[in-house]
Amino acid sequence: MKKAICPGSFDPVTLGHIDIIERAADIFDEVVVLVMSNRSKKDSLFTVEERMELIARSVNLANVKIDTYNGLLVDYVRNSGAVAIVKGLRAMSDFEYEFQQALTNKSLYPAAETMFLCARGENTFLSSSMVKEVCRLGGDIRPFVPESISDDIYKRCKGDN
Ligand code: ADP
Repeated sequence: MKKAICPGSFDPVTLGHIDIIERAADIFDEVVVLVMSNRSKKDSLFTVEERMELIARSVNLANVKIDTYNGLLVDYVRNSGAVAIVKGLRAMSDFEYEFQQALTNKSLYPAAETMFLCARGENTFLSSSMVKEVCRLGGDIRPFVPESISDDIYKRCKGDN
C-alpha cells in the first residue's frame, strides 16, 4: 500500500489545497493531510483542531485521513510508512522555498520522495492568507473555499465565534 503525506498549515483549507489532496488521493492508496502545528503563526485564524475539522468537512474520500504533528515532517513520514510527500506548486515564487524543503527532507530521509503537483490555473493566485485578507476586508470568499466551510470563515473573521 502506497501512502502519501500532504503537509501544510491549512489556515484555512482552500479549493487549491482540496484540488491537490483529491489528485493525490487518485494516485496513492492512502493520503494523510497533515496539519503541521509547529508552523502555527501567532496570528492564525483557526486552531489546529478547528483546521482539521474544516478539512474533514471539505473532503469526503475514504482513502484520505487527517492528522496533526508538531515535529519534523520526515519523522512523521518515516513513522507512518509513507513513501511520498505531495505538495502543490503555484508559481515560480513557490519553487525556491519548496525546492529547498524537498532537498532538505531528501537528505534527512532519503526513502521518501517529494512530488509536486502543478496548481490548476485558476488556483495559482489562491492562498490561505489571501482568503483571510479578502474576508477581513468584507469581500466574497465563496469562489475560493469549500462551500461547507465559508460561513465558519466569515464568522471567525467577523469575530462572531
Ligand atoms: P499556504 O501556502 O496557503 O499557507 P499551506 O502552507 O497550508 O498553504 O500549503 C500546503 C500545501 O498546499 C503546500 O504544498 C502549498 O504549496 C499547497 N498549496 C497552497 N495553496 C495552493 C493552491 N492554491 N493550489 C495548489 N496548491 C496549493
